[in-house]
Amino acid sequence: MKLHGTMTVNSRGHLEIGGCDTVSLAGEFGTPLIVLDEALIRETCRQYIEAFVKPYPGNQVVYASKAFSSPAFCRIMAEEGVGLDVVSGGELYFAIMSHFPAKNIFFHGNNKSPAELEMALSHQVGYIVVDNADELKMLNSLAASLGVKPAVLLRITPGVEAHTHEYIQTGQIDSKFGFTLPNGQALAAVKSLADYPCLDFKGVHCHIGSQVFEMDSYAHTARIMFEFLVQIRQETGIVCPILNLGGGFGIYYTAEDRPATIEDYAAAVMDTVKECAGKYNYPLPRVIIEPGRSIIGNAGTTLYTVGTIKTIPGFRKYVAVDGGMADNIRPSLYQAKYEAAIANKMNLPAEVTVSVTGKCCESGDMLIWDIELPQAERGDILAVPSTGAYSYAMASNYNNLARPAVVLVREGKADLIIERESYEDLIRKHKIPARLQGRNL
Ligand SMILES: *Cc1c(COP(=O)(O)O)cnc(C)c1O
Repeated sequence: MKLHGTMTVNSRGHLEIGGCDTVSLAGEFGTPLIVLDEALIRETCRQYIEAFVKPYPGNQVVYASKAFSSPAFCRIMAEEGVGLDVVSGGELYFAIMSHFPAKNIFFHGNNKSPAELEMALSHQVGYIVVDNADELKMLNSLAASLGVKPAVLLRITPGVEAHTHEYIQTGQIDSKFGFTLPNGQALAAVKSLADYPCLDFKGVHCHIGSQVFEMDSYAHTARIMFEFLVQIRQETGIVCPILNLGGGFGIYYTAEDRPATIEDYAAAVMDTVKECAGKYNYPLPRVIIEPGRSIIGNAGTTLYTVGTIKTIPGFRKYVAVDGGMADNIRPSLYQAKYEAAIANKMNLPAEVTVSVTGKCCESGDMLIWDIELPQAERGDILAVPSTGAYSYAMASNYNNLARPAVVLVREGKADLIIERESYEDLIRKHKIPARLQGRNL
């Protein structure tokens, strides 16, 4: 297993993160437990700022909060000077409750409700990223009635196919997101802005997908989007100050993944943007990027307790843990792969091939197929790294499993930032109608 961020193996042969012994964390907070490495989160933010913003002070790094959303996490983003993407009233609510600077919030989504748009307008979020013609009309009339003039970007579908899982590809023409570029709908949308005097058009946005490894895809997309800016200038005379190129930067989950560096990413994007600005004599736009997974993914590690171990001779050895698809749906949903280690046996050789399964009532509830681990026993702590993104955020209460706790570790201290759900939490919203109450059957 690759050791990320501040991970080390201590003198007891235990995995340590942020100076905390993970076996002790499991004892103190219970399992499943998601451990977030604060130093790695901050270090990654600084790499992004260093590469994208220091050399181009108008640029902005904006964290896509759908990857993992929590008020404590929003505070860290604010401290690091990173903006925030939200895609729903709920994500916006978290940002507001954590006093996130509203001017650095971007509101996305393909089906924002009038109530959500009104909430965004009344809190004066920095930008609304408008997805479709319906939304343009609705937003203009809401803005008129509230007497405001929000800054808007238009989400464009550039017709780029990123090489990633089809569920996490978003740039191709047949997508639910955005105004299509190749068929002229995107340009028509820009022209329609003349009919919407309450909208302050600032530029265009695209997001080609997630877990993208080819920096050429980013360079290619930046060029297509820049050429669209040039076309907008030609057809309408409007010069856009903002070019938002979305997120999707791929990360390491297993040795099959070979991520580029953030510097390579910045070079692919900014070299292309600068070249286009020169070629078309266009003022250098402020470039926005929206990393989600790459800021939080590697910084999260899930700790589980090993329970049942079942061997089917000649077939497979199953190691079951006290979580699974309820806290991490990615293996079942995307065939996502992970590494793992036994946190209390870090110095023992990985000599047994096992498959790690969860405790949900689905055969598909597998976390990892065929992984080499030391001999596992009931009570061992299994650590699955790189579970910071799209795990807790996608967690469910399937089988009435309670959502795990989340701790933020740093320099030997662990702060609980999300409590583990209790059985009372699970039943809190349920009601028994009077006619079904108090009857002895
Ligand atoms: C999901 C999303 C992102 C972040 O994607 P990652 O793969 O987590 O970096 C950025 N922008 C938009 C609009 C998104 O929908």
